[in-house]
Amino acid sequence: DAIVRTESVFKTYNGGSVTTHALRGVDIAIPRGSFTCIVGPSGHGKSTLMHLIGGLDRPSKGRILIDGADITRLGGSRLARLRAEKIGFVFQFFNLMPGLGAGENVELAMMLAGRPQKEHGERAAELLSLVGLADKQLARPSELSGGQQQRVAIARALANDPPLLLMDEPTGNLDSASEADVLDTIRRLHKEGKTVVIVTHNNDIAREAELVIRIKDGQAIGQEAL
Ligand code: ADP
Ligand code: ADP
Repeated sequence: DAIVRTESVFKTYNGGSVTTHALRGVDIAIPRGSFTCIVGPSGHGKSTLMHLIGGLDRPSKGRILIDGADITRLGGSRLARLRAEKIGFVFQFFNLMPGLGAGENVELAMMLAGRPQKEHGERAAELLSLVGLADKQLARPSELSGGQQQRVAIARALANDPPLLLMDEPTGNLDSASEADVLDTIRRLHKEGKTVVIVTHNNDIAREAELVIRIKDGQAIGQEAL
């Protein structure tokens, strides 16, 4: 049972005189509930693949199925709804709103997802405690460590309770202590049933994965079950 499936996915970027074939026929299947790592050299298409799976960009060719639905056939508003229901994103640079507290950052995502206003406060508090930041509700991003900021970003990604978490180098900008905290949070979410897909250069993370997908020259050159 795959929560994510790609079928012959190609992505070409046309930038004036430069054409980049970022993905060249990618077929992968990510099992529901799995902890999956996407690895491979820089510039070979990992982020592009994550963006396409997350519905942030569209493939040049091929199909992408999320929970069985072909997202390449969805119009903008239906795609946005599917994204809000099914997918949480975490990026390398946390992208938190600097003027808002941790709780407000999480609540903002709930507002954007259209969740009822009355549940925002309590739910934001629950999610912050889920990522170990119960006491940081009012802290601004500048008052938090990198690892704490990333855990706020994870709480924000959980705002709408999506089954699928896509993380593009979530620990790429963290020292090793912060990385350990963030990994601990990610492990916990996986245990609770989330499907976690991580792009990483960290072999220690990849070793823990149930599935490692290696992307090279725009192609998936191996799904190794570990
Ligand atoms: P990775 O995540 O493995 O480092 P990327 O998916 O970011 O690789 O990039 C794959 C290739 O596509 C690279 O050659 C990169 O320069 C190119 N690329 C990525 N995004 C864009 C874009 N928005 N416009 C043009 N080229 C891009
Ligand atoms: P528990 O271990 O009781 O699930 P949580 O803090 O994870 O503790 O959840 C408390 C309640 O909030 C649960 O009833 C659950 O349904 C809900 N909940 C937890 N996480 C989310 C989420 N990401 N999205 C929506 N609801 C959630």
